[in-house]
Amino acid sequence: MKRQGIVFVISAPSGAGKSTICEGLRHSADFVYSVSCTTRAPRPGEVNGKDYWFISADEFTRHAAGGEFLEWAEVHGNCYGTLRARVLELVAQGTDVLLDIDVAGARQVRGQADAGFKPTLVDVFIMPPSAEELERRLRKRGTENEAQIQTRLANAKREMEEWRDYQYVIVSGSMEEDLARFRAIMSAERCRSRRWL
Ligand code: 5GP
Repeated sequence: MKRQGIVFVISAPSGAGKSTICEGLRHSADFVYSVSCTTRAPRPGEVNGKDYWFISADEFTRHAAGGEFLEWAEVHGNCYGTLRARVLELVAQGTDVLLDIDVAGARQVRGQADAGFKPTLVDVFIMPPSAEELERRLRKRGTENEAQIQTRLANAKREMEEWRDYQYVIVSGSMEEDLARFRAIMSAERCRSRRWL
């Protein structure tokens, strides 16, 4: 039997624990992680083509103007976008794809006009257990300066207002708990009879 590919979307305010989930999931071989384009500078250790495609603002504008993005958004002062062709190609092959995108991007993906695309979408919001814990996690990460932390905290508050638009919500606990819950969602969604051809 053959199954349609699924587009898993995961969103969370930064510091909510999403990167840890994505890192844990990346090592599973049963889906492809969608590598986004961004105008943000690479952080130490980030690899072009693996973490992101690090591109210039001009190149980003060209992709956007050419309609090449499935979705794109400005997040924390930088642009991020998902290239449409790669995602659609994988889904058509029956391969599952994971998109780690912000709430504005998720809204655009949900709003895709293509009636064939909609049923392939499964979106999950990772909710921090509390505002204090979110701030603690963000500071512990140590990758942002104070101004960036303040921007991210302000953005987090706005993003968290959209959790009800997602099909699933995971209230973040330990990394193992979050991963187990996400895997359970993946597993159940893959068993939906309507996905089997
Ligand atoms: P970071 O700079 O910490 O890697 O990512 C910042 C935010 O950008 C995260 O919330 C992440 O989900 C979001 N992001 C990463 N790639 C994309 C993308 O392709 N599209 C959108 N809309 N958001 C993205």
